[in-house]
Amino acid sequence: MRMVDLIEKKRDGGALTEEELRWLVAGFTAGGVPDYQMAAFAMAVYYKGMTDAETAVLTDAMMRSGDTVDLSRFGAKSVDKHSTGGVGDKTTLIVAPIVASLGGKLAKMSGRGLGHTGGTVDKLESIPGFRTTLTPEEFMRQVEAVGVAVIGQSGNLDPADKKLYALRDVTATVDSLPLITSSIMSKKLAAGSHSIVLDVKIGSGAFMKTREDGERLARSMVSIGKACGRQVRAVMTNMDIPLGYYIGNALEVMEAVQVLRGEGCPDLGGVCRTLACNMLELCNGWDADTAAREVEASVSSGAAFETMKKWIAAQGGDARALEDFSLLPQAGSRRIVAAPQTGYLGHMDTQRVGEASALLGAGRQKKEDAIDYGAGIVLKKKTGDFAEAGEPLAELYTNTAATLAESERVFLSALRWQDAAPEKQPLIYGVVG
Ligand code: URA
Repeated sequence: MRMVDLIEKKRDGGALTEEELRWLVAGFTAGGVPDYQMAAFAMAVYYKGMTDAETAVLTDAMMRSGDTVDLSRFGAKSVDKHSTGGVGDKTTLIVAPIVASLGGKLAKMSGRGLGHTGGTVDKLESIPGFRTTLTPEEFMRQVEAVGVAVIGQSGNLDPADKKLYALRDVTATVDSLPLITSSIMSKKLAAGSHSIVLDVKIGSGAFMKTREDGERLARSMVSIGKACGRQVRAVMTNMDIPLGYYIGNALEVMEAVQVLRGEGCPDLGGVCRTLACNMLELCNGWDADTAAREVEASVSSGAAFETMKKWIAAQGGDARALEDFSLLPQAGSRRIVAAPQTGYLGHMDTQRVGEASALLGAGRQKKEDAIDYGAGIVLKKKTGDFAEAGEPLAELYTNTAATLAESERVFLSALRWQDAAPEKQPLIYGVVG
């Protein structure tokens, strides 16, 4: 087989056979298919798409490209969640301890942030001492004892996706439905959980910009997961507005703690409750009412917050930082962004808001960049709010003061002003599965 023939076939709109796709993934993983040919193939897929059958084979081949995790000792209790990526998305920090406090077992591998989106591993590493690398024995022991362990994607899990995702990131081929489906589902299937809840983000801060595309992605991932014998649901959520008010790593840890103490942003709390309920319906077999009641009780009794502290301490993190935020990384410089005019915030281009935060040091421009854990943005106004000219819209935090002016410019360019209040948008668009 020759890679050039497979690129040509896809370029001309053809469908690859199972044998061709498995050959391609094996060759790319082993290094026989070079990056430049794989990049050309990814671009052909971006333009021509894939059939459902091709996407399923690609997912399976990627899932088998490396190690898989055996979570059978946890039976139906093993449950995972995955977000397709957004701005201010700290849901794992909130949902994981809630679900663990109610009997779910989360043996979770998470990613780092890239571009405008944040990553759970970076957020957790902002807690002093927290380790996102555990031995397989430590990882399993912690899931048994605490109910949750979160690490970075382990060494040889889905190496095909590791290589392909890095390539897509620099060749403008991330936002392709079959490539996102196979990337996410191959990792989730390899990671072994019996039940999986996908948080499919839709809107200006997400890879899927329209509800139609978001729903297609949700259906595609659910059908592949089910075909592989897993219980899968996809919750479609609004990413046309940053989630919560805090964007940045240590800042998002603070907001997660607020929600677990019952004090945080109601919108963020609402999305987290929906995700937690769906996970518990799958892993505990609960009906929707029972799940909702138990989630409320876990937060209001403090059980979920206690589980978060145990989880952080178990991975070497300083759990006192969850009670005393001065122990988290801080930013040396702050700037208040004032409203340039009076009016309603009609829309926030959420990707641009994420870019403004990344510029401050909260995200990476390149994979190897270091993160400034104290950097980020605290929003004071969001879509739908009214502001008088001069009123604070946001606070920018950084340890590199030189980035403040550019970040402020990008942040302000994300805002659209109008005279009348915009229509309120739903937070949850629906559940597939
Ligand atoms: N998240 C992933 O893991 N893969 C993608 O392709 C997009 C988002």
